[in-house]
Order: sequence, then structure tokens, then C-alpha cells
Amino acid sequence: MGMKIVIVGGGTAGWMSAALLARACRGRVADIELIESAEIGTVGVGEATVPPIQVYNHYLDLDIREFIQKTAATFKLGIEFKDWTHIGHRYFHQFGPIGVELQGGVAFHQFWLKMRQMGETIPLEEFSPNAVAAYTGKFTLGKGDDPNPLAYAYHFDASLYALYLRDYAEKRGVKRQEGKIVSVQQHPETGFVTGLTLADGREIKGDFFLDCSGFRGLLIEETLKTGYEEWGQWLPCDRAVAVPSAGTGRLEPYTRSTARAAGWQWHIPLQHRTGNGYVYSSSHISDEQAAETLLANLEGKPLADPRFLKFTTGRRKKAWNKNVVAIGLSAGFIEPLESTSIHLIQTSLFRLLGLMPLPDFDQTSEDEFNRLCRIEMEHVRDFIILHYHAVERTDSDLWNHVRTMKIPEGLQYRIDMFRNRGRVARFNEQFLFVEGNWVPVMLGQNIIPRQYDPLVDAVEWSESRRILENIRTVCREKVAGMPTQEDFIARHCASPVAAMA
Ligand SMILES: Cc1cc2nc3c(=O)[nH]c(=O)nc-3n(C[C@H](O)[C@H](O)[C@H](O)COP(=O)(O)OP(=O)(O)OC[C@H]3O[C@@H](n4cnc5c(N)ncnc54)[C@H](O)[C@@H]3O)c2cc1C
Repeated sequence: MGMKIVIVGGGTAGWMSAALLARACRGRVADIELIESAEIGTVGVGEATVPPIQVYNHYLDLDIREFIQKTAATFKLGIEFKDWTHIGHRYFHQFGPIGVELQGGVAFHQFWLKMRQMGETIPLEEFSPNAVAAYTGKFTLGKGDDPNPLAYAYHFDASLYALYLRDYAEKRGVKRQEGKIVSVQQHPETGFVTGLTLADGREIKGDFFLDCSGFRGLLIEETLKTGYEEWGQWLPCDRAVAVPSAGTGRLEPYTRSTARAAGWQWHIPLQHRTGNGYVYSSSHISDEQAAETLLANLEGKPLADPRFLKFTTGRRKKAWNKNVVAIGLSAGFIEPLESTSIHLIQTSLFRLLGLMPLPDFDQTSEDEFNRLCRIEMEHVRDFIILHYHAVERTDSDLWNHVRTMKIPEGLQYRIDMFRNRGRVARFNEQFLFVEGNWVPVMLGQNIIPRQYDPLVDAVEWSESRRILENIRTVCREKVAGMPTQEDFIARHCASPVAAMA
């Protein structure tokens, strides 16, 4: 065998890494060993994903029905944002397209803007099959002949997900060690990590290390002192309190995010329970008040005591340093408002596959990895800041701060461009959020362009208006024939875990 790769940590990041590397190496190329400590445990709260997770699942060649059943997963068509713009307001950030292209080169929302300017205020989401299905509780998988199936991701139980991937990885040769790492050995000259010692004296040597040890960054920070860039000036939330609650019988096929005085609350329906949490700024509310607010706003009875988590928003200055690559929380953290962390694990892993190290390390691979991680994290950061900044709320210190703060230049540029003509600046298009994401969030947060695209007027308005109505009708009709998510899951992929709940 060539190299020995050691993965430190068995949370979502550790087991996603182990499964992917096992699949990529196929029992050749590298030996893979993973160390995890039950005593330390995992964060265990990442439950909402975005559609590209299907790329990861596909790479692993998972049996999707089994994946859903084993992780008690449900389907997610997007995110509802309640009370963000102002209290009483809501909008939907759907996956998949809104409308269709009516005219080459002119985005659909430009026609919607003209309609709005002419006094018709039909919600944008009525032109999205995903949003219509979400709000009517419907879900189905596209059949082979459906050119526009619903775009979806999953909600799943994070602990069950790690167990599921562990089984996958171990079956493909990943060696697992249970134990607490108490010391790290480094090469005296290069500083490269050479081995780890567990509390019981076991020693584990390796050529390349993935640091999936969570926020602490056991190798990347505690050992290599890489440094961390903090983004709290734009994203002041630094705590979360999470609690699972009993399901209500309804499985809304979307994540709900409700803005609160000092942050926001998530609601994630799984097959066997609902995941809830309040992400908040500790400068604006106490832990006790946050927990009280969360418990007062549950739809089902709590199933455990509230669990508190602390975090510092930002990124590790270099996710790859020497022979250590940080994946997951050890590489940085941006609050889960758009469910991006698991996605960032996935993209880091595919990036690593594209730059797979050899024993004689190559600085350009490290630099390229770090360059792309930085751009990607900043891209996600700006998208999240948009949600906080473009608000009308004046009811608390947090909202007054984020509404009036100076934001990163790139984001300001995007907002200005959209406000002027409804156009989305096109850079970093290879990353997660594209025009179809920026538009519903910008409009949802009431950034209304001054003027629609002049090319809209190239088409006779009565004709455009007729097509708009047609799209709306097609969305409604397409969704009307779908089963509810509850029925769909009962028929195709009910989890035995749910039956036991
Ligand atoms: C409040 C909150 C909500 C979130 N919601 C979402 C979401 O909806 N969607 C999403 O995509 N992401 C979400 N995330 C992020 C997601 O939870 C993480 O990205 C994901 O769980 C990965 O965590 P991890 O594996 O990096 O770290 P952890 O889960 O912390 O795992 C660390 C591992 O390292 C091990 N370890 C640490 N030190 C040692 C040691 N000394 N010896 C041996 N082992 C050690 C631990 O035992 C553990 O196995 C959320 C995060 C938070 C904080």
C-alpha cells in the first residue's frame, strides 16, 4: 500500500471523509485509519443539507432508499424564512428554478419585476414548483420522463448518518480506533505530523492526516498553530441551544428558519422527531433566555434537555497546513442558516481528491486547496450576511446592529447591482450559490430593483403576462397530483427508527 492516511475524529466530517476516501482508494493507494473518542463525543446537530449532497451519495454509490431509512431522513425542498425582513413577513428560498426563461438572456425574475411594477403583487414562489410543493406539504421523486423534477436535499439524523457512513467505510477497509488522543508527534525539522498517542499508550503513525476533530482543531490549531480569521463583526451569533422534540405527524418538506430578537430558530422535521435550535448572539441574550425562547416555541414536547454549543464564526487561515488538512468544523464555521457546513465538508473532500497528496509534498497543491477554500468560505459568508443585513427590523439591538453595519465590499457590490437593475453579479459561479439562490433571497429580503431589464419590453406585455400565468398554473397542476411527503415516505422509504419512536 502507498500512504497511510489518518483521520482524527468520527463526527460527520470524519466519517464522510473516511467513506469518500475508502471509495476513492478502493483498498489500494492508501491505508485509512480513523480515531474517535466516545468520551469527547460529536457536535451531532448538522441535520439539514443542500441538493449537491446527491453528488456525494452518487460517488459513494449509495442505495438511497437504505440511506433514507437508516438515517430517518426526510426530503427538503428549500428553506422558509419567517420574520426575517420584518415581523410577520415570510419568504421561501427554494431549490431548483423559479419560472422558465421567457426570452434568451433575460432572467425570469425580470418579468416578475415588470408585473410587480404594473401593480400585481403575486408572490415569486408561486412560480416555483419547489415552493408550491413545499407549502402544500407535497413531495415526489421525478420519473424518468419528467424534464423538471423537484430539486431536493435531505434532513437527516446526524448521529445516524455518522453510524451509517461508518458501516460503509469499515466494510471498505477503514480501520477504526476508539480512544482519546493525548499527544501529537511532529518531525523535529519540518514540523510535519508523524504520529499520535492515545490515552492508553497506543501509537498511531501516519503520512497524511485529516483533522476532523471539531472546533478545537487538534492538529491544525492546537499542534500547528495555523491561526483563525474571525467574522464575528458581520455574523455576531456565537452560540446555539438545540433540543429535539416529538414529531407532530406533519413532515413539512422544508427547513423553517424563524428570526428572533437575538438570532434565529431552526425547525427540521425528521421521520422520528423534529430538530430545533436557537442560534443566538451571547452579547444580546443570556443562555437561559435563549433556552426559554426555544422551549416556548416548540411544536412538540421536548425529548431531551437543551444542549448548548459555542462557536466562533470564521475560517482557519489555511485549511491545509504541512501534511494536515482540516475538514469540517476544524476548518471553520458559518452558522447553519443555509445548511452549508456539510456541503463544505463535501466540497473540501472532492477538492482534496483532485489534489491528492503524494508522500513528497507539493506546495502548489496545498496553496490551491487553501485558495479555493478561502474563496468558497467567503462566498458562503457573504450570502449569510445578506440575510442579516437586508432587513427592516428595528426591534432589537442585534437587528439594529446588523442592519446598519458596514458589510464586505463584494456583498455591497452585489446588493447595489441588484438594487439598480435586478442583476446578479457573476463571480464565483462554480460555488454553491448561483443566481437562482441570490434572487429569491434578495427579493425575499425586500431588495427591490429600481428598474427591470429593458429587454423585457422586447416582448409584447400581454404575451409575457399570458406565459407568466401559464407557468403559475403549471406549477399548481404539477404539484396537485403529488402525494404528501408523509404518504411518499410511508410508501417508499419509512425508517424503522421512526416506527420505534
Ligand atoms: C448549532 C449547529 C447547527 C448545525 N446545523 C447544521 C445543519 O443543519 N447543516 C449542516 O450542514 N451543518 C450544520 N452544522 C455543522 C455540522 O454539525 C458540522 O459541520 C458537522 O457535524 C461536522 O462536525 P465535525 O465532524 O467537524 O466535528 P464533531 O462533530 O465535533 O466531531 C469531532 C470528532 O473528533 C473527535 N475528537 C476530538 N478530539 C479528540 C481527541 N483528542 N481524541 C480522539 N478524538 C477526538 C470527537 O470524538 C468527534 O468524533 C451545525 C453546527 C452547529 C454548531
